[in-house]
Parts: sequence; structure tokens; C-alpha cells
Amino acid sequence: MNRGIESLFRKYKVNARIGTAKILDAHTVRVGDDKITAGSILIATGVRPPRLARGRVRRQGHHHLQGGHGPARAAAHDADRRRRGHRLRIRLLLQRIGTKVTLVELQDKILPIEDEEVSDALEKSLTKRGVTILTKSKTTHVEKTPSGVRVEVETPAGKQAIEPKLCSWLSGSRQHREPLGREAADRGRPGHVKTDRANGYVTAVPSIYAIGDVNGPPWLAHVAHHEAICCVERICGKSQRTVDYDNVPGCTYTDPGVASVGLTEKAARAAGHELRIGRFPFLASGRAQAADETEGFVKLIFDARHGELLGAHILGAAATEMIAELVMAKKLEATEEEILHAMHPHPTFSEAVMEAAGQAVGESIHI
Ligand SMILES: Cc1cc2nc3c(=O)[nH]c(=O)nc-3n(C[C@H](O)[C@H](O)[C@H](O)COP(=O)(O)OP(=O)(O)OC[C@H]3O[C@@H](n4cnc5c(N)ncnc54)[C@H](O)[C@@H]3O)c2cc1C
Repeated sequence: MNRGIESLFRKYKVNARIGTAKILDAHTVRVGDDKITAGSILIATGVRPPRLARGRVRRQGHHHLQGGHGPARAAAHDADRRRRGHRLRIRLLLQRIGTKVTLVELQDKILPIEDEEVSDALEKSLTKRGVTILTKSKTTHVEKTPSGVRVEVETPAGKQAIEPKLCSWLSGSRQHREPLGREAADRGRPGHVKTDRANGYVTAVPSIYAIGDVNGPPWLAHVAHHEAICCVERICGKSQRTVDYDNVPGCTYTDPGVASVGLTEKAARAAGHELRIGRFPFLASGRAQAADETEGFVKLIFDARHGELLGAHILGAAATEMIAELVMAKKLEATEEEILHAMHPHPTFSEAVMEAAGQAVGESIHI
């Protein structure tokens, strides 16, 4: 992939300089001994998870996994919150090869930002496969031992110690990597560069822009991609487009996978919508049966007054591929009727989307 990007740079005549950049003033960047001047400067330096503090850690397992802060660098490897899927995938892999796995989660759900039904169903699925899940639990101490790691956890049922071979840690907040210089100093969220998102990601300095992770959540590659395009088009005077943050898909690469876009049921209700909800289980899908991937379901949330799609939530083997259709549907303000009557090929996992829309209006045929 890196080589591909290098060749794209050559194709588009982009000069790349490898080195640590420092912004000297509104139009000057220093890289090594060189000073580069520019009409506009675009910061896309990403973020990194905070360092684990000495003396405390959290996360657990026999392989132990959790969110928090702490040390034991050799024993814990840190990641980031939206990467919960990454962590879950590691855990699943370990569990599948016979390793006992314990997951410790501070919040009451293993996927707290997803729809509760999806998070609960994934939790049930993992528990069925032998993963121990401790929610509402806090890792208070982690230390290396001759045989692995000792992890102390406070659970609603009381304190307990776990002694896994390996402990993986997932931290909750992030900060940008290096100080970029006074001109780029953070004026908003700690560790980030504050920008005007409605105005092309301009910072407090009119010639300096910032996109991607450094400009704040959601910290996702596809978000950084779209922000970059909007920002550069604005700088070049080509368009005034903005990113639609209400239509950002989120994927969790677990087994089965999780994908969603838009509002959860809870958020939609809290926003005052009257809802019509359609569900379709993969158990009733011929394609899922043929692939022996019948776990999970599609859940579609519609506004009852206008029928507009407000949110889509999928748990299933093909979830992360299927969600794109619903991002498009949401972008085009599709209704349940429109999704139901858009012909889906048979046999496919995607038929479950059409069926869920049908169920929302009482016209589902296959359940
Ligand atoms: C383990 C992991 C899994 C992830 N999984 C997913 C996923 O499945 N889907 C998804 O959408 N997102 C995922 N993400 C998030 C995704 O990688 C980021 O959202 C995305 O890379 C942000 O792009 P960016 O351009 O803002 O920053 P980055 O991709 O982090 O790029 C920033 C670059 O700037 C460089 N840099 C920093 N400071 C300086 C400086 N002073 N001078 C010069 N260069 C500098 C860095 O070295 C880096 O190369 C994952 C992230 C991690 C770590």
C-alpha cells in the first residue's frame, strides 16, 4: 500500500519530504534543516494513545483485555477506544485456539457506542463461546509476575485478581503526537487542534488547517479521507462541501462483525422520534444458512411519521460490507418503502436489509 501511495504522489506531482515537521509561522514549516513556505498549511498528524502511567494499569485476561490507564509496558499493549474491535478480534483468535480469555470493560456494555441490542447479542455470542466478560468493572492494578501478569479488578460483585499470561490494554483518550509549534497550538480538546469544521477545517490561524484524527473524533480513516477532500477543495476554491457527521459508518471487526450508521434506538427515542423498527435474523437467510453464518441480525430504525431511515445496525458475518448500502440509503433520505422495493439479489446476505425494511411496515415475507 505504501508503494502504491508513493507512485500516486509521483503521478500527481506531489513532493514528499520525510522528516518531522514543525510549524514556524502561519506560512512556514521546518523539516530538518529546510524551511518550506506555503500559502496554506494542512496538518494531518494523527494522534496517539496516552502513555501508560507508571504504577497503575488496567485491562485483563488469561488473556486480559480492558480500557484504562497504567504501566506494565511489557505486559500490556495499548490501543484506542474505537479499536475495541481490534482487541475483540485478538481475543477471539486467542479464544479459538484454546486460550482462556477474560474481557474487562468499564462501561455496562462491551460495545457502549453501538445499539444495545447489538452489543447484548455480541456479548451473548462471546459468552457462549467461553469468553468471560466483566462489565462495569475496573482494573485497578497490573503488574508483571514471573509467569505472566497479575491484574486486580473491581467488579460489581467485589474485588478479584486474575493471573493471565498476557494483558492487552485499550485506552480511552488520545492526543496528537508531537508539539507542532505555537501556531498550531491546541485551543480546544486537549491534545487536538481545534478547527472550524463548517468552514473547511480552518484553525485559529487563517492559513492553517487540520483534518483527520488530530482534529478530533470520530477517529476513523474514512472520516479523515472525507475531511481531507472537503478541506482541500475549500482551499482551492473548488467547493464549499462539508462532511455529514450524522452519516458516518462504524465497523467493529469481530466475529460476527458489527456495523452501524446513524442513530441507535436509544438515541432516536431520546431525540423525540416516534419509531418504526424492522429486524431480520440471519437465521432466516438462505445465503447465511448456506455459508453457515447464521448468527446476528439487521435492525433498521425509521421515523414513524415520514418513514425516513434514522439508523441501521447489523450484527453478522457480512455486516461491515453490508453497511455501505445503508449509508447510501441514509444519504438519500430513503424510506422503509423505498428500501423494501429496491430489488435485492438472491441469495445474498443483503436481502436481510430489504426484509428488515419490510418487517418495519408489517410486510416481511420470510419471517
Ligand atoms: C490499530 C488501529 C486500528 C485501526 N482500525 C481502524 C479501522 O478499522 N477503520 C478505521 O476507519 N480507522 C481505523 N483506525 C483509525 C485510523 O487509522 C485513523 O483514523 C486514521 O489513520 C487517521 O488518519 P490521519 O491522517 O488523521 O492520521 P494518521 O494516519 O495517524 O497519519 C498521521 C501521520 O503523520 C505523521 N506525523 C505526526 N507528526 C508529524 C510531524 N510533526 N511531522 C511529520 N509527520 C508527522 C505520523 O507519523 C503519521 O504517519 C485504526 C487505528 C489503529 C491505530
